[in-house]
Amino acid sequence: MCPTVDPAIYQPTSQKDSREPYVGRFAPSPTGQLHFGSLVAAVASFADARHHNGTWLLRIDDVDQGRTVPGAAEEFMITLKAFGFNWDGSIHWQSQRENHYREAINQLRQRGLAYPCRCSRRQIEATGRHGENGIIYPGTCRTWDGTGPGQLSSRLRLRTEDREIKIHDQICNAVSQNLGGDSGDFIIRRADGFTAYQLAVVVDDFLDQVTHVVRGADLALSTPRQVYLQQLLDYPTPTYAHVPLVRDRDGRKISKRDDARPVQSTRPLPALQAAWIWLGQQPLHEPCRNVDEFWAMAIPKWSMQALSDLHPLPIQTHKEPRDRSA
Ligand SMILES: [Zn+2]
Repeated sequence: MCPTVDPAIYQPTSQKDSREPYVGRFAPSPTGQLHFGSLVAAVASFADARHHNGTWLLRIDDVDQGRTVPGAAEEFMITLKAFGFNWDGSIHWQSQRENHYREAINQLRQRGLAYPCRCSRRQIEATGRHGENGIIYPGTCRTWDGTGPGQLSSRLRLRTEDREIKIHDQICNAVSQNLGGDSGDFIIRRADGFTAYQLAVVVDDFLDQVTHVVRGADLALSTPRQVYLQQLLDYPTPTYAHVPLVRDRDGRKISKRDDARPVQSTRPLPALQAAWIWLGQQPLHEPCRNVDEFWAMAIPKWSMQALSDLHPLPIQTHKEPRDRSA
């Protein structure tokens, strides 16, 4: 969902320098098999990168080792290859980047921007307000000196500020959030010692020099927190495009956790064609015999504009009219 929209920050892609390098990425969490919703996000990300003669990276978001399913990452790679997704270079694994995450976290702590938190979920639920990202942390531990009960917890929160973080999104147009008021101080290292997703993904995109993030709309509301971290760490902000979510008949997002049926790597073409049409792209009129032929025909036709004009979906329920004059 796009919280608020400020047309003044709308910058159409055409204003960007088309000669600048394009680095995109697909970053699945290895928690199950590839289902149609993930396939749609992968198709959008891959087609946009290749349409711009860009680099496309594969990153396994396995920072949450507790949720990682053994063998799922390998299964992803086999499935992606069967669908003709050819990534550039070697695969990047979040689990191998702990030292980079630690470095960024230390920097934030040394600058007084992060602090330890010992609050239980129950305490936060009892004292926090409800916001669009869940319960807003009330800042209880901002003044805690880190000693006494709860000092063994590894949880760290990032101090947020009372100011708007505004992002241009190629599909959603504009996302804007006041982190202090709408989100609150958020976790960058969890109580179990694992780096939180928000911090990890920001460091990853910086290390990988990602310029374009095309991903599912369930992460749209995470983007202001990620952009805030980029600003604090002096990292560049990529261009974002959040692809509307594929929903089931009851309007729920289909996800691996709901046992959504995985796509069949033995029959990739029908699923690719369905994803292509679902993304609002021009139908491919020539019959294609294999995935290579599909991509050879599809990539030149890819249009982010067609996707952003797509049928109304939940991410777009807050969408304001596009500023055509810009
Ligand atoms: Zn706390």
